[in-house]
Amino acid sequence: MKNINSKRVFKRNEKEPNTDGDYILYWMQINRRFQYNYALEYAVGWANKLGKPLLIYEGLSCDYPWASDRFHHFLMEGMEENLSYAKENNINYYSYLEDVPEAGNGLLYELADNACTVISDEYPVYIIREHNEKVGPTLEVPYITVDSNGIIPLGLTEKAPYNAYFFRKIMQRNFVECFTHPPKKESLDDLENRNTVSLSDNFLEKYPLADEKLKNRSSFISSLSINHTIGKIDLEGTRQAALGKLGQFIEYGLSKYDDHRNDPDINATSGLSPWLHFGKISEYEIVDAVLDHQPQGWSLDNITFNKGSTGGFFNGDPNVDGFLDEVITWREVGFHFAHHESNYDQYETLPDWALKTLEKHKDDPREYVYELEEFAQSQTHDEIWNAAQTQLREEGVMHNYLRMLWGKKVLEWTPNPEIALAYLIELNNRYAIDGRDPNSYSGIFWIFGRFDRAWQERPIYGKVRYMTSDSTRKKLKLNQYLEQYGSQKTMDI
Ligand SMILES: Cc1cc2nc3c(=O)[nH]c(=O)nc-3n(C[C@H](O)[C@H](O)[C@H](O)COP(=O)(O)OP(=O)(O)OC[C@H]3O[C@@H](n4cnc5c(N)ncnc54)[C@H](O)[C@@H]3O)c2cc1C
Repeated sequence: MKNINSKRVFKRNEKEPNTDGDYILYWMQINRRFQYNYALEYAVGWANKLGKPLLIYEGLSCDYPWASDRFHHFLMEGMEENLSYAKENNINYYSYLEDVPEAGNGLLYELADNACTVISDEYPVYIIREHNEKVGPTLEVPYITVDSNGIIPLGLTEKAPYNAYFFRKIMQRNFVECFTHPPKKESLDDLENRNTVSLSDNFLEKYPLADEKLKNRSSFISSLSINHTIGKIDLEGTRQAALGKLGQFIEYGLSKYDDHRNDPDINATSGLSPWLHFGKISEYEIVDAVLDHQPQGWSLDNITFNKGSTGGFFNGDPNVDGFLDEVITWREVGFHFAHHESNYDQYETLPDWALKTLEKHKDDPREYVYELEEFAQSQTHDEIWNAAQTQLREEGVMHNYLRMLWGKKVLEWTPNPEIALAYLIELNNRYAIDGRDPNSYSGIFWIFGRFDRAWQERPIYGKVRYMTSDSTRKKLKLNQYLEQYGSQKTMDI
């Protein structure tokens, strides 16, 4: 990649490729798709350069943090779809499902033993960041991670952006160049050597194919020692479902986005975050599809650099422009922050002004204080908060505006901000299908002041932005929402 996309490539060691190897290995960790995937495309480039076939490996362990039926079902639905696609298209795709903790620990290393080079996904948080840091130095062949997360390559920023305005300025300067160097629609189109890669019987005995387990998903999941109380949700973890959701949003939600994105009773947001999180759909294809709905005559020439301000950049339909600001600036600022800040999940990485003001108000009296499991079971005094938590617990999603209120109240109703932060990370990542994402940490840390500015000083919050359920009730249309989630439904945990 010689253009701006070279800023997506991270060499994780200084090893030379093993030209006697059997294949190029692509380890599909988070961008679990064959389309619009820069990392897969990059792996194809290596395969062509060395004249080798490509082997794609997608796995799922059973001891990842917050492992539950909810995540397993969603991921396995996506893996089953990938398996069928690979079979139909004669792709060397090997998938593995671990049934006992640590059984799959040596798998990647054994596959790498026969590989010329290993390529994987760059991702700045969660266990994927840890894998990438650990694997590179231990392999005998090059380990290269490629960023296929967003429009603005992670290597383009030089430091952690401290707010959206700062990042938006960089985005505005680089958007056209990045957008006009898109990933290929079909990442495997240019692959030259299509020979079959056969894995040895010994290997397959130790690490059996996932095919049967994928077919018998429910019984396989019930046999695992994961959290079975966090149940399957209605959303399907396939690319097909993601594309359907995008189509629906463009048809029914997009034209209402600017006015109604904050109203839980009106379906004006895309609901795409679960599939974005697991990489079933790429941000590029969402942006491309939405840009098609700018007014007639609009083109990239209408774009004007506007020094990081929200308006006056895309200069098109306010619904399209507003959505693009969320999916590009707000989604990507968190990726770039975590890319540069390895302690992205630590309280100490809050801005100084926020740390200072929260410290000053640490001992302010709290009218209500709840334990983690009281929060988890929607057992607070507040009807709106309980409804939002019920939706999160039972359906794995929560509306963005309510997510902000939900987080602010946990800050107010816990003994101190560090405990509030720990509770929010736990609740979000335990229940939210889009959790454990860079945006989980942007959203949660925003509650405590990250990416925000100081406001008027108040008890408990200090100068950190404050929100109330009363003003939310006045501002939003919530009747239907409260009817649906308002009664205190609980679930055994
Ligand atoms: C406390 C808290 C926790 C959060 N946890 C998560 C999380 O775990 N995972 C997650 O993806 N988002 C999280 N967010 C951000 C935001 O709530 C969701 O991205 C958004 O609600 C997803 O719904 P949607 O796909 O319908 O969004 P849309 O409004 O349709 O936006 C499209 C996409 O843009 C991005 N986006 C939109 N709003 C934001 C935002 N405010 N911040 C960052 N990205 C945004 C998302 O990728 C989203 O899917 C959190 C926010 C808060 C306040």
